Amino acid sequence: MKDQTSNSWEQRDMHNVFHGFTDLDTLNRNGPVVLTHGEGIHVFDVHGKSYMDANSGLWNNVAGFNHRGIIEALCDQARRFPGYHAFFGRIADTTVALSEKLIEISPFPSGKVYYTNSGSEANDTVVKMLWMLHRRNGQPQRRKIISRVNAYHGVTVATASMTGKAYNAEFGLPLPGFLHADCPHFWRFGRAGETEIEFSQRLARNLEELIIKEGPDTIAGMFAEPVQGAGGVIPPSEGYFEAIRPILRKYGIPLIADEVITGFGRTGAMWGSDKYNVQPDAIVASKCITAGYFPMGAVLLGPDLCAALTAVSEKAEEFPHGFTAGGNPLGSAVALKALEVLETEGLLENVNRLSGRFMSGLRQLGEHKYAGEARGVGFMGAVELVADKATKVALDGSYQISERIANKALEKGLICRPLGQAIVLGPPFVMTEVEMDRMFAILADTMTEVFAEVG
Ligand code: PLP
Repeated sequence: MKDQTSNSWEQRDMHNVFHGFTDLDTLNRNGPVVLTHGEGIHVFDVHGKSYMDANSGLWNNVAGFNHRGIIEALCDQARRFPGYHAFFGRIADTTVALSEKLIEISPFPSGKVYYTNSGSEANDTVVKMLWMLHRRNGQPQRRKIISRVNAYHGVTVATASMTGKAYNAEFGLPLPGFLHADCPHFWRFGRAGETEIEFSQRLARNLEELIIKEGPDTIAGMFAEPVQGAGGVIPPSEGYFEAIRPILRKYGIPLIADEVITGFGRTGAMWGSDKYNVQPDAIVASKCITAGYFPMGAVLLGPDLCAALTAVSEKAEEFPHGFTAGGNPLGSAVALKALEVLETEGLLENVNRLSGRFMSGLRQLGEHKYAGEARGVGFMGAVELVADKATKVALDGSYQISERIANKALEKGLICRPLGQAIVLGPPFVMTEVEMDRMFAILADTMTEVFAEVG
């Protein structure tokens, strides 16, 4: 604990805050980091110590932590019309303008936007949309949801069930009817002698077998992140989406791209769906939509799903679902400005300009003793730690190496993320070359020190 005086911010946190997704052992030993403000890609704690945030907050603070233009847009909207909902056909003008903009930049020729407050709620909303759609179309048994091993789709009961991570067992999840197809991670799951394309085709065959075994007319839809993010930054194997797309079409199964991380430039393209030829029926967005300055999630319905859902909603008189703060005009003003900043202040260009440097920095980290695969795309990357480079055997979990690397990096003023056996980086889109080199230098030193302790 940094500050033992009973009135410190750390003590007040420890007495009053119940943290989620926090290693309690580390928290009890080191205490929380209580922050006061940010400047560019750095955040500052209550003692004035600065940290470079190599994860953009939670992937979302892509324009840095004190962008004047976005702050002004929020304040201007607050002075004019600070809050309204989107129920009963009423809506703020700013939210209409944002919807128009989102459809304009989406991969869809036309469509509509539905608003939530988070990525979890947006995915959860799509599950209900699909259930209502199939039920009203005379297929009430069409309720099963396919996602994938290692996926992360959120924390509500339904989206945690879709999330393919082991910790959901703590809650007795997944619920029945939530199925997990293979994870398209060639380095980890490819077989000896198999090419990457053959691997993708094998996964597609497995998916078809799963659909047939479960009964094609029992499947409501499939969700997939274009690049699995919280699963440890796993870009799809070559030809993966091209291989699974025809199978889903054959059985009339809608494909939903969960672009909560990959949307708005993280991969270097506006959408991960563009980058990997996903051809989704709907896109789920959140995070960067407001550059992390306001809670917002959005479902972008492509034309076919939108038309089908509109038809059944008309039969039912409405789509009976909504969040009080969904479509809040403050968030809409922030999002409109954040998208303008993304397009006009060179953020996307910067991701593309520096992604080569980012990948080569990752690859250098990948040369460390216990580093296995270094992988990534755009401004999202990971180095997976292994006990043995040749066999790829995972490190003994009891060493908690990735956690130790992240903790030591934090002491040195760098925030990076341990995810299972991987160290994950998702820098803000405004990161400079100098900052990037510093990030890798700190991480390289930290890994060397921690590996030396391990032996
Ligand atoms: N989907 C993906 C791909 C995510 O990475 C996340 C969060 O990290 C979510 C959904 C859930 O979003 P939220 O935390 O806003 O509920």
